[in-house]
Amino acid sequence: MSCRSTKAQEPRIGAAGEFNAFAAMQPRAPAPTPPQRRNGAPVKSADVAPRGVYLPNNNMLAPHMRSPEYVQISTAAAMTLGLMPGRMHRCGCTRCLNLLLTYPEGCRANCAYCGLARHREAERDYADRNFIRVDWPAVPVEQIVEIVARAGTASPFHRMCISMITHPRSDADTVSVLSAWTRRIDPLSIPVSILSNPTTMSRQDVIRLRDLGADIFTVALDAATPAIFDRTRGKGVQSPHKWSKYWEILLAARDVFGPQKFGAHVIIGMGETEYEALRLVQQLVDLGGHSHLFCFFPEQGSLMDHLPATPRDQWRRVQLARYLIDYAGVRYEQMRFDAQGRVVDFGLPRAELDRVIDAGVAFRTSGCPGKFRDDISACDRPYGDSPPSDIASFPFAPNRADVRRIRRQLAVPVVQEDA
Ligand code: SF4
Repeated sequence: MSCRSTKAQEPRIGAAGEFNAFAAMQPRAPAPTPPQRRNGAPVKSADVAPRGVYLPNNNMLAPHMRSPEYVQISTAAAMTLGLMPGRMHRCGCTRCLNLLLTYPEGCRANCAYCGLARHREAERDYADRNFIRVDWPAVPVEQIVEIVARAGTASPFHRMCISMITHPRSDADTVSVLSAWTRRIDPLSIPVSILSNPTTMSRQDVIRLRDLGADIFTVALDAATPAIFDRTRGKGVQSPHKWSKYWEILLAARDVFGPQKFGAHVIIGMGETEYEALRLVQQLVDLGGHSHLFCFFPEQGSLMDHLPATPRDQWRRVQLARYLIDYAGVRYEQMRFDAQGRVVDFGLPRAELDRVIDAGVAFRTSGCPGKFRDDISACDRPYGDSPPSDIASFPFAPNRADVRRIRRQLAVPVVQEDA
């Protein structure tokens, strides 16, 4: 993908055979923000009126843009909509249109791995921050809806997702953006997901979004254990999130949206063991939901940008095991783990495991489904968790050479016996 922030980010990837252990994955402490940079003050005081699409890092002050009139979209979505030039490595388009709420004062949380975190106001206007490795242009909602409505059944998008951030207006503006979409676009033709911000939400908010036409509700737990959650999203980095609140809203989503219509995002490689990650994956399946996995990537400018990306063997084992739990009826209790919590037996006969690996679907980006198959995510997030030179989540079907590489990466302490 041609964009400045991706070029700058070639991460250090943990060595094969190692894993990103809890003790090693300590975020930096956030530095204080000078008062004149707080709460989007430079953007608000200059108060430059926006004029259509704003491309990040235009070497000018970001204009004063706010949801619900404006949202940010990924570089991949901007290219797919024809709003930005450029081509993506081995991808024709993205199938999911993510609409990220935006405000000059930005997200009020401070998550250690996130490019949008509050501490970054010291160095960068909100609309200029990189997020999951790429730039996010700001675009009027009306313009996006017009382009998608005009395309009708020819639209490449299989799903739209409203991504909330932590902001006092986030709940109300999610409702406004969803309503602006469903006024013109039938949610049965392009279903809508909500990537929620539980910290500001109640059960009533969850019900309201379902009643307005949302199809799937997800919660970005991101951390696989309460200790990692607290260290990366809570008190550890002066951020307001609480594990218990996230679970309250996740369980509300289970009740309100029902089986297969809710899920949780989990980042792999922030200090959890493979056993802990897969125990959570199983817990979500047992509740009737799904997990959507992300490979930890040291986002430039984040409080974890000095730490290694997840070793590929750790990532591939968790990706494969998660797929088996979510779609092949294998339980994590059938798997075996070594003393460091690494998977050493996936609980399937060798021939069956080989078939799953060779099919390649297990290694594609995971997320809410599109129109191809239940186990193929619309949300393909091209190169959102790795550079194209060493793909973690494949945004397309891996070819034979890709599968050979995946097999090499999986060449780990797997002692699978023949059935
Ligand atoms: S709440 Fe979401 S957008 Fe805000 S800092 Fe945390 S991960 Fe980033």
